[in-house]
Amino acid sequence: MKIIVCVKQVPDTTEVKIDKKTNTLIREGVPSILNPDDANALEEALALKEKYDDVKVTVLSMGPPQADVMLRECLAMGADEAILLSDRAFGGSDTWATSNALAAAIRKIGEYDIIFAGRQAIDGDTAQVGPQISEKLGIPQITYVEKMELLGDKVRVQRQLEDGYEVIEASMPILLTAVKELNEPRHMYIDKIFDAYEKEIPILTINDVDITTAEVGLKASPTRVFRSFTPEVKGQGVILEGTEKEVAAKLVNEFKHAHII
Ligand SMILES: Cc1cc2nc3c(=O)[nH]c(=O)nc-3n(C[C@H](O)[C@H](O)[C@H](O)COP(=O)(O)OP(=O)(O)OC[C@H]3O[C@@H](n4cnc5c(N)ncnc54)[C@H](O)[C@@H]3O)c2cc1C
Repeated sequence: MKIIVCVKQVPDTTEVKIDKKTNTLIREGVPSILNPDDANALEEALALKEKYDDVKVTVLSMGPPQADVMLRECLAMGADEAILLSDRAFGGSDTWATSNALAAAIRKIGEYDIIFAGRQAIDGDTAQVGPQISEKLGIPQITYVEKMELLGDKVRVQRQLEDGYEVIEASMPILLTAVKELNEPRHMYIDKIFDAYEKEIPILTINDVDITTAEVGLKASPTRVFRSFTPEVKGQGVILEGTEKEVAAKLVNEFKHAHII
C-alpha cells in the first residue's frame, strides 16, 4: 500500500508575540516546525506501516529549500521517502494554486492508496488545501478524521463533528485529513536521524510536474491578500470588587453590555 502525506513547514505560531509598542508581530527567533495536524497525519501513516506489510510512506511538501529540514524530521520519524516541490514559480500561491501544485506532484508520484493531509495549517489556517487536492485528483475525501482502520480495500473512519461524530466507510484511493485527536505523534528515532541526513531528497520544480504558470504562483491565484495587519492588543483586564453576589451581578451586567450573553 502506498501512502502520501502532505506536510507543511510553518512558523510556530505559539511562539509569535506582539510588539506592544509598534503593534507588529515579532517573528525573530520564531522556529519553523512541522505543522501539528500534519504530524498526526504522518503518525497515522507510520502506524499503518507498522501494522501491515508492504506499506510505503512518502512525505510531500511544497515550500522553500529550508523545508528540507522538516522533511528530514519526517524521515527520522520513520517515513520512507521525502519529496520537496520547490520553485520560485510557486511563490505567493493561495490555496487554489497550492492545491494545483500538490495535486500535480501527486500525479507525478503516480501510485497512492491513501493521501493524508492535516485538517489545517496553523499559519494560513484555511483548512482548504486537503479537500481541494482530492477534488483535483477526482478521489473521495473524508475530513476531520479522529479514528481510522483499514478493512481490505476500504477505510472506516470516525469523523469529528462539533457535537459528536459520524462513522464513514469509503473505498481507496481516498484523501483523509487528520485532527489532533487521531493519535499522539511519535518523536524522531535517534538512529534514524543519521539516516535521514544521508538520504537524498528529490526537489521537483515546475518543469518536473505537469503544470504551467497559469495554475500556480501569485499571479495565477484567484485570491490576493489586500491588506494584513496585527490585531490590536487587548486593554488591561478589570478586577471586579465586592461580595461574591455583587461581583457575579457586575459580571453578568458587563457580559450583557458586551452582548456576550
Ligand atoms: C487570500 C490568500 C492569499 C495568500 N497569499 C499568499 C502569498 O502571497 N504568499 C504566501 O506565501 N502565502 C500566501 N497565502 C498562504 C497560502 O495560500 C497558504 O499558506 C497555502 O495556500 C496553504 O493554505 P493553508 O496554510 O491555509 O493550509 P490549509 O489548507 O490549512 O492546510 C491543510 C493541509 O494541507 C496541507 N498543505 C497545505 N499547504 C501545504 C504545502 N505547502 N505543502 C504540503 N502540504 C500542504 C497540509 O497537510 C495541511 O495540514 C495566501 C493565503 C490566502 C488565503
